[in-house]
Amino acid sequence: MNHPFAANDISNVVEADRVHVWHHLTQHKPYETSDPKVMVEGKGMKIWDATGKEHLDAVSGGVWTVNIGYGRESMADVIRDQLLKLNYYAGAAGSVPGALFAEKLIEKMPGMSRVYYSNSGSEANEKAFKMIRQIAHRKHGGRKWKILYRERDYHGTTFGALSAGGQAQRNAQYGPFLPGFVEVPHCMEYRSQWGEIENYGERAADAIEEVILREGPDTVGGLCLEPITAGGGVIVPPAGYWERVQQICEKYDILLHIDEVVCGVGRTGEWFGYQHYGVKPDFVTMAKGVASGYAAISCTVTTEAIFDQFKDDPDDPMSFFRDISTFGGCTSGPAAALENMRIVEEEGLLSNTTKMGERLLGNLQSLMEKHEVVGDVRGKGLFCGAELVADRQTKDPVPEAKVKAVAADCMEQGVIIGAQNRSLENGMNCALLFSPALIATESDIDAITEAVDGALGRVFG
Ligand code: PMP
Repeated sequence: MNHPFAANDISNVVEADRVHVWHHLTQHKPYETSDPKVMVEGKGMKIWDATGKEHLDAVSGGVWTVNIGYGRESMADVIRDQLLKLNYYAGAAGSVPGALFAEKLIEKMPGMSRVYYSNSGSEANEKAFKMIRQIAHRKHGGRKWKILYRERDYHGTTFGALSAGGQAQRNAQYGPFLPGFVEVPHCMEYRSQWGEIENYGERAADAIEEVILREGPDTVGGLCLEPITAGGGVIVPPAGYWERVQQICEKYDILLHIDEVVCGVGRTGEWFGYQHYGVKPDFVTMAKGVASGYAAISCTVTTEAIFDQFKDDPDDPMSFFRDISTFGGCTSGPAAALENMRIVEEEGLLSNTTKMGERLLGNLQSLMEKHEVVGDVRGKGLFCGAELVADRQTKDPVPEAKVKAVAADCMEQGVIIGAQNRSLENGMNCALLFSPALIATESDIDAITEAVDGALGRVFG
């Protein structure tokens, strides 16, 4: 179904985009002879582009962000009201929505206590890295400056976050990176580094301990992990992994920083991904689903024990967190986040996510039975991936162009899915990604998987 607005009404917009806008993550050469995609309007799970074409969005705004769906009037209302009351004051002071959202958020995060506001996932992670570094300086006399991150995880685009980036393609042309960031092995059992073994989860966690011992435990201050790796291929940690990780952090006095930028606020069926595993983090960072893209807001959340270390000596001018984020003082962010959380809670979106997530995973498993090219399906909640392999035995990835062709075929059918192309990396996977809004219905889920079924048949048939 096409949207009633006529494509030529906004042809000037498309032209302005073609001539002046540099899109994210995009090779622009094809736009010299074809129109760039310009999105115009959204409602619920649907989005319309500038040609008037309607799409069912299976990736919540492309990058697992619009958790509550498009076009929510109450979100617009709370943001408008807050802007007219007080749009901004620097974060050295508090704000009404900032205080109320922090209180509500902490209710959902037993054991956590303090919320530091900024604007993007990268920035939230940078704050946590800086806090870990400051603790290293003040508590450990400059030792414990290293921060571990995991192969295949992603933590953002700024240089600190990129230095903690485990995806080679994203980093390849931007070095040198910051010192003190050290990689640990991934925990993707489907591509086990140790062949087929029992207790893969514990083995993968032990691999972290090996890195700590190699580097020297007195040099390592933090470990930053995604609860479930997102862009690296939807890697659900294997049984036993998180328990061991927690023990290792405690054993070596290493602060655990969990990056919930994708998983946070309901995506996996719990408020936060780590809550599936009973983990007790020192830092939790979040961004995308916090206000579902209605406002730019991110949070670095810590325990009271961490916070205490930043006020231990009021007479020492260095004894506080010397950091600011100008737009962390925008009040529209926490106002939107508060309403976003009310919607998730009152509409029962966590249980819907669990239910619809099971349906999505089940549907993808049926596709695996039907299409030889689907080598593995993984996921939790409305956060799933299907890995495509040229051969189930060797697990060689399919050519990158084929993954793109599947996504393009779905797009043609009016369903937007994610396509991850990482075949250039050593043994890295090519996967189809699915992260529909948490309001998805059974018919949305079935429409998404039907489109993929058709696309796989045509591309690999
Ligand atoms: N962490 C994770 C796990 C992410 O997936 C992303 C973005 N995709 C980020 C951090 C960075 O967030 P942002 O783009 O808002 O800086």
